[in-house]
Amino acid sequence: MTELDLRGNQITNLPESITNLSNLTELDLRGNQITNLPESIAKLSNLKKLYLKENKITDLSESVAKLSNFTELYLSRNSIKKLPESIINLSKLEKLDLSENTLETPPLEVAEKGIEAIRDYFQQVKQDSDYLYLEQDGRDYISLEEYLQICQANGFTERKYKLQLSSYLHDLGVCLHFQDDLLLNKTVILKPEWGTTAVYKVLDNQTVRRNWGKFTKQDLANIWQEQQYENARDELLQLMIKFKLCYKIPNRDIYIAPQLLTENQPTYNWQETNNLILRYTYEFMPKGIITQFIVAMHQHIWQQEYVWKSGVIIEKDQTKAEVIEYYGKREIKIRVVGKHKRDLLIAVTHELDKIHDSYNRLKYNKLIPCNCQKCKNNQDSYFYPLKELQDFVAAGEYTIQCRKSFKMVNVLSLIDDTIDLRQSFEDREREKK
Ligand SMILES: [Zn+2]
Repeated sequence: MTELDLRGNQITNLPESITNLSNLTELDLRGNQITNLPESIAKLSNLKKLYLKENKITDLSESVAKLSNFTELYLSRNSIKKLPESIINLSKLEKLDLSENTLETPPLEVAEKGIEAIRDYFQQVKQDSDYLYLEQDGRDYISLEEYLQICQANGFTERKYKLQLSSYLHDLGVCLHFQDDLLLNKTVILKPEWGTTAVYKVLDNQTVRRNWGKFTKQDLANIWQEQQYENARDELLQLMIKFKLCYKIPNRDIYIAPQLLTENQPTYNWQETNNLILRYTYEFMPKGIITQFIVAMHQHIWQQEYVWKSGVIIEKDQTKAEVIEYYGKREIKIRVVGKHKRDLLIAVTHELDKIHDSYNRLKYNKLIPCNCQKCKNNQDSYFYPLKELQDFVAAGEYTIQCRKSFKMVNVLSLIDDTIDLRQSFEDREREKK
């Protein structure tokens, strides 16, 4: 027998004998007086469909969740208040009807959205409350495999939900798990302070400081020789790179921590004519913008040599960009010379804007130099805020007055000299959002 129809009887308790019908796939118990399902119902391991509409069930036994072949479960018109959390383990369940119950957990409006919403609800509850076992784990870090096993032991069955949990805990700062990093995704750092302490051991190290932020893997082996670090040196180095605290010089075993670079600007000859110039000014200037910029652009540092604590020279396609932060003046100034000035300037501003975007509502201006006869090729020219020029264009005004020569200047030529007109309008659209 695979199907059993017991509709409309006065059954109050399911007879134990039913649970011997282990081949049963469908059981119809609609319109009875059943208040509880016996634990032994778990023996009906082939059961796929169970109809319990119009009964008097108040509690759904945990054993229901052991019926792993369930595809449909009909429970409307009962008195169920709470679903057992283990219901999420019924991975084949497609249809779960809970209408006309006095449901509280999960809330009725969640239950009405269907089984997926119910699963997400319980996963969320689990995430919010149930990661103590990870916090209480004494280890600094564990492998991804170990992490997945711990989750499994704590009731997470699907990989998707296990990884969702680690990304949630990462966002909370409870642990560190960089899922998009080829090396770091294999490790879950349970104690973030273990990582930060290790990083500061490098940044505070006397040898590294004496070498103006330059270090090798051998230096790291000396710095991280304690047992708690020795098997995780590659991961810790990658963590420093990830936090933009250092970069590797291409093709060499040398790393640079730019915040430890010398303050002294190296000497070099700079062609002062035909420069493309752009200035950023900040209402409030956070520390470390130029450092992050240096890390982001490190592959193009001129001869890997022209870089110092507050500035860098970038070289690309026979073009050079000098980018210097004047922290006291809350300003970053960019000068570009060479063959493809505009392309390089766009690359530089793109990278800077990306860094700016990572701060919450950072307020800054982009300033563009005047190109009138008096200002052109003059390092002391008048500067217009880019936004003002864009406002002029938007209002259909195409000339603006230079405050040094008092001559009228074409607005579009100012913008187009410095940045791509199209990019200018894209910036504007982004700011509107
Ligand atoms: Zn001018």
